[in-house]
Amino acid sequence: MVITHDPDVRRAHSRDASGLELVPEAVARAMTTSDVIEVVQLASGNGLTVTPAGSQTSMTGASITDSGILLSFSGMNRLIDVDATNAIARVEPGITIGQLNRDLAETGLMFAPDPTSEQDATIGGAIACNASGARSLYYGATRRHVNGVRVVHSDATTADYRRFHGEKNTVGYAAAQDPVDWFVGSEGTTGIVVEAQLRLVRAPLNIIGLAIPFLDEASALDFVVAAREGRSSRLARCLEFFDASAMQIAAGYIGAPWANLAGSLIYLEDDAGSSPVERILSGWLELAEDFGALSDDIRVFEGAQSLREARAMRHSVPATMNERGSARMKNGGRKVSTDWAVPYNRLREALAASKEAIERHGAPAPVTYGHAGNGHPHQNFIAENPADLRIINAAIEDTLAHVIKMGGTVSAEHGLGKLKRPWLDLQLSQRQIAVMRAIKNTLDPSGMFAPGNVL
Ligand SMILES: Cc1cc2nc3c(=O)[nH]c(=O)nc-3n(C[C@H](O)[C@H](O)[C@H](O)COP(=O)(O)OP(=O)(O)OC[C@H]3O[C@@H](n4cnc5c(N)ncnc54)[C@H](O)[C@@H]3O)c2cc1C
Repeated sequence: MVITHDPDVRRAHSRDASGLELVPEAVARAMTTSDVIEVVQLASGNGLTVTPAGSQTSMTGASITDSGILLSFSGMNRLIDVDATNAIARVEPGITIGQLNRDLAETGLMFAPDPTSEQDATIGGAIACNASGARSLYYGATRRHVNGVRVVHSDATTADYRRFHGEKNTVGYAAAQDPVDWFVGSEGTTGIVVEAQLRLVRAPLNIIGLAIPFLDEASALDFVVAAREGRSSRLARCLEFFDASAMQIAAGYIGAPWANLAGSLIYLEDDAGSSPVERILSGWLELAEDFGALSDDIRVFEGAQSLREARAMRHSVPATMNERGSARMKNGGRKVSTDWAVPYNRLREALAASKEAIERHGAPAPVTYGHAGNGHPHQNFIAENPADLRIINAAIEDTLAHVIKMGGTVSAEHGLGKLKRPWLDLQLSQRQIAVMRAIKNTLDPSGMFAPGNVL
C-alpha cells in the first residue's frame, strides 16, 4: 500500500467530472483488502476521514474531498473468478465495467449496467452510485445486478453480505432484510466495498440499432411512450432521446449531412435474436411512421463495429458538453447537468414545465438528451460564469419542484454527492432522512466515510 502527502499526487486526485476541485490531505492506493483495513485503522487512530474513489468520474463531487484520506481503488482491479453455470462473477472494486465485459466476452455473459462512462467507471463506483445507462431500460440499474459485497466497516472489521434468495420473508424491516442495499447507492458513506459478487446476464445475440429522426420533440417523445407501451410488439433495449442541439452534435460526430429537417432523434436498440431482422425493422418503422418519423433519414446499425459507432455517436453528446463546460472553468463557469426523472409517460409535460422555468429565469437553453424510455433526460447547461450558475440553478430548482409533483426524482443515476445534496429534502421527508441518518450512524458512528456526500 502506498500512502502519500505529495502535493502533485493530491492535486491529481482533486477533480472528478463535477467541475469542483477539492484537494485531499493524503492519498492512499490500496492493492489488497489488508491495505484498506490498514487505512481505516490509521484514520480511526488519528481522527481522519476516508473517501473511497474509483475512476473519479462522479458528476456530483462524490469522489473528491478536502478532508482526510482519498482511498484509490485503481490498484484493486481484478476479475477474481467467474461461475459461468450460475452467471456470477467475483471482482475487486477497481475493475472498470468496460474491462470486466472484455474479460467476460468469451463466456457469452456480461455485466448489464452501462453508464455512458462504462469504459472508465469502476464496479465500486457503479455500486456506490447505483449506476445505470441506456440499457437499464431493459436490465435495470446496478442494484439488481449485485448479489453480494465484502465490506470493510469503520471499525476495521470485514463482513460479507449476500442477498436473501427466498421468495417470501416477513422477518424484520425491509431496510434490514437485504444489507447489500446498505451499500448500493450509498456513495461511499456507509462502508468500503472491497469485493463484489455480480449477477451476469447472457449477452444478446443480434442487436440492431435504429436512429430515427422526427420533425419535432413532441412526436419523438410520443413515439417513446408508444414504444414503452408495446405498440410495436417488441421490447426496446434502450430508447434514447436527442433534442435538436444534441442531434446536431451527434450529426457532427458522424461527419456527414444528415436529416437536416429533423427537430429531434430517437436511438433505440432491439435484440433480434434468431428472428428475421427485416420483420423487426419493419415493425419499428411502421410505429415510427405513425409519429411522422423522417423515414428516408433513418439509420440502421448492425454488427459489433457499427453498434460501437452508434454508441460513440450517443457518447459524443456528453463528451462535447464536458469539453464546453471545462473551457468555461477559468471564468468560474462550468457544465451543469440535470439528472431528474419522471414516469416515462410524463416526460413531455416535464420538459415543457422545465422550458417555462428556463425562460422565466432567463437561463441559457440546455442541450437535452438521454434515457427517454425511463423518463430520464439530461439537460446540459453551459454556465459562462458564476452569475450564470446561479440563474441556471434557480431554473433547475423550479423544474425539480414540478418533477417531484409528477412523482419523479431529483437524481436518477448520478447520485447526490456534494453538489446535489441540498436537494435531498425536496424529495424525502424529514422522517425518511432521519431513517437514513440512523443507518449511517449505525454503520459509521464516527462519520469517517465520505463526509459531505448525500447527508
Ligand atoms: C461522460 C460521463 C458520462 C456519465 N454517464 C453516466 C451514466 O450514463 N449513468 C450513470 O449512472 N452515471 C454516469 N456518469 C457518472 C459516473 O461515471 C458513474 O456514477 C460511475 O458509476 C462512477 O464510477 P467511478 O469509478 O468513476 O466512481 P467515482 O467517481 O470514483 O466514485 C463514485 C462514488 O463511489 C464511491 N466509491 C467508489 N469506489 C468505492 C468502493 N470501493 N466502496 C465504496 N464506495 C466507493 C465514491 O466514494 C463516490 O461516492 C457519467 C460520468 C461521466 C463523466
